Amino acid sequence: MLFRMVKLRLLNMIAPAYFYTATVVTFALHFLLFMPTVFRSPDVERNPTMLVHIAVFLFLMGNALGNYTMTICYPSENANETVIPVCSPDCPDRIDAHYLLNGRHFCKVCKKVILKRDHHCFFTGNCIGNRNMRYFIMFSIYTSCCCLYSLVIGVAYLTIEYSISFENPLTFLTLLPLSTGYFFLGLISGLQFFLVIMLYVWLGIGLVSAGFCCQQLLLVARGQTWCELQKGWLSEVRGTWRANLTDVFGSRWALGLFLPVQTVETVPGNWQVYHDHKHD
Ligand SMILES: [Zn+2]
Repeated sequence: MLFRMVKLRLLNMIAPAYFYTATVVTFALHFLLFMPTVFRSPDVERNPTMLVHIAVFLFLMGNALGNYTMTICYPSENANETVIPVCSPDCPDRIDAHYLLNGRHFCKVCKKVILKRDHHCFFTGNCIGNRNMRYFIMFSIYTSCCCLYSLVIGVAYLTIEYSISFENPLTFLTLLPLSTGYFFLGLISGLQFFLVIMLYVWLGIGLVSAGFCCQQLLLVARGQTWCELQKGWLSEVRGTWRANLTDVFGSRWALGLFLPVQTVETVPGNWQVYHDHKHD
């Protein structure tokens, strides 16, 4: 039990470090390698296509990082309770959380009773709950876009710089094993090998984020949380999907699609209303 907790704590520190490293590497590759090579033009210093791509990349990155920051700056509310939480009779005693009475949850990593808890996000080192769910979903969407965009530009770069053809659909399957072999045989440079690995990292994060975001949106539209899904409370749909989405995304939701700004009005004590009409 103690060992499992230490593992969670370590993950809580490693995951954000991994996120920061991947962001810095992606930035460096885009501006030092990809943009100058892929959009090189012989006569003009900076061609318009390159400026458009820089703008798109900065927009996606800005929203991903902005929503990441918002998720941390507006943490989910926690109940100021000094009593030791009492578990509900059907508490599964999961590795990361205790399920309490009244449909509330105690996060073992945050060591707090989190209101409307969804799950503990290790990349942000925070619980996702009533106040930051919207930022978390937007963070997933933009991270996914950023990664898939980087993948496309990365493929373009490898095609131009190293004449690797991606026309055959099998190229992506054989690229990693072949590159690993070539690298250890000394046939390709460390940089080229690193770029191939980054393509797979972007593909992986891009697909996982997109899948995660779709699942969260479905849950939000049904007025449910991941915690409740774990308990098998999926049978009933609460309220209309419109009301559920407004509940999470706030009234200024349209602005939040394009800018990482505060769009969720949180009235203190509002969660009590949520529990009153949704859990009793
Ligand atoms: Zn937590």
